[in-house]
Amino acid sequence: MTKEQNIDVVVIGGGPAGAMAAKYAALQGVDTLLLEQKKTIGIPIRCGEFFPTAKELEKIFVHSPLVPELYDIKKELIAQKIDIVRVFSPKSTSFDMPLEGHSVYREKFEEYLLEEAAEAGATIQLNTRVERIRAGLVDTNNTRYRPKVIILACGPNRKLLNPLGIHIQNDLAVCVQYVMENLTIEPNIVEMHYGNVSPGGYAWVIPKGKDRANVGLGIRKNFYKQNILTLLDQFLQAPIMKNKTAQGQKVSTIAGLVPVNGPVPHTVMDNIILVGDAAGHVMATNGGGIPIVMICGRIAGEAGANHIRHGTSLHMYEKQWKKECGRELSNALRTRKRADFIVYRCGWLAEILMRLLGTKVISRALKCASVGF
Ligand SMILES: Cc1cc2nc3c(=O)[nH]c(=O)nc-3n(C[C@H](O)[C@H](O)[C@H](O)COP(=O)(O)OP(=O)(O)OC[C@H]3O[C@@H](n4cnc5c(N)ncnc54)[C@H](O)[C@@H]3O)c2cc1C
Repeated sequence: MTKEQNIDVVVIGGGPAGAMAAKYAALQGVDTLLLEQKKTIGIPIRCGEFFPTAKELEKIFVHSPLVPELYDIKKELIAQKIDIVRVFSPKSTSFDMPLEGHSVYREKFEEYLLEEAAEAGATIQLNTRVERIRAGLVDTNNTRYRPKVIILACGPNRKLLNPLGIHIQNDLAVCVQYVMENLTIEPNIVEMHYGNVSPGGYAWVIPKGKDRANVGLGIRKNFYKQNILTLLDQFLQAPIMKNKTAQGQKVSTIAGLVPVNGPVPHTVMDNIILVGDAAGHVMATNGGGIPIVMICGRIAGEAGANHIRHGTSLHMYEKQWKKECGRELSNALRTRKRADFIVYRCGWLAEILMRLLGTKVISRALKCASVGF
């Protein structure tokens, strides 16, 4: 028989968005339950695991106080410090952008964020899949929850999003990645490769140590129909990669989806708040989501709690995330749409354009600033 339970806030999903939402709701003193389908936190990993330091993020999200969790990331969570992002054009012209960042151990990082949420007072329940959200209720296989507020942080999960009228699958980047070792790489440099190696997206090398890296790529279905693993294997053999991968060994393979079509039209519906990948809170130019979903997670948790405690409208959530990150998300989407016509359609045109734009403009585009091409 299905149990029923009344509760203030149910957060669905224990990724970085859900963890932050649960923490900041619980900190306001409301009863918060986070439901996560995975049995083990963070596993399987579906991530390149790289993001800029808080110092760099302050320059990107100038209207946001960020979240404290992005500062002082503990040493044991960091796999590799990064100083430079090197962008390669289709003909392998390279552009070096100084950018301080780190690759993290994503599963440990998620564990840390969920511990923070638990310490703040949220209950974290693993191995619990939400089957359905209907009429403001949340159903798992054995319990029906009646939350005052639902925070939906389930990533690009169509099963939960489509019934709400959110068709996040319309422009998803499909990604595959090998974790590799015995590589010959520069460990402080993240690489991004554009052109035929990864149609509609880019291929990456994200170091996780002196000879270890996440090597992957993301493509969009409008640009490529063939097997994505074949494409990744071809990338490993490309002239620019050959020396780096000659002795390389694949340790594991992962696949995942990234929504790259900007934020969904409505992030508040009745008693439901959408946050993170579920809401399209991802930088459309580079597919990076971790910092932004954490910021929006904090805003979601606070807005949910304020609604319960003080009766403020949940729509304050949408207003606030737009204030803190809306401009950057719009800039990134605009740039990606322009790139769709030039960079992703025609290799030689992309080559000329990237050379003309140079490091400064490419860097601005990747950092979600407004660019005039
Ligand atoms: C291959 C790949 C590489 C990436 N590389 C980077 C990178 O290097 N840097 C970066 O910043 N971003 C990267 N991203 C994007 C980043 O991983 C996401 O933006 C970020 O994880 C989004 O966080 P989230 O909490 O919104 O969603 P998720 O991290 O997807 O978390 C959602 C959680 O909800 C759970 N869930 C889903 N459905 C249910 C359900 N029905 N019931 C209960 N639980 C459910 C899932 O198990 C999951 O744990 C990458 C993404 C991919 C796919």
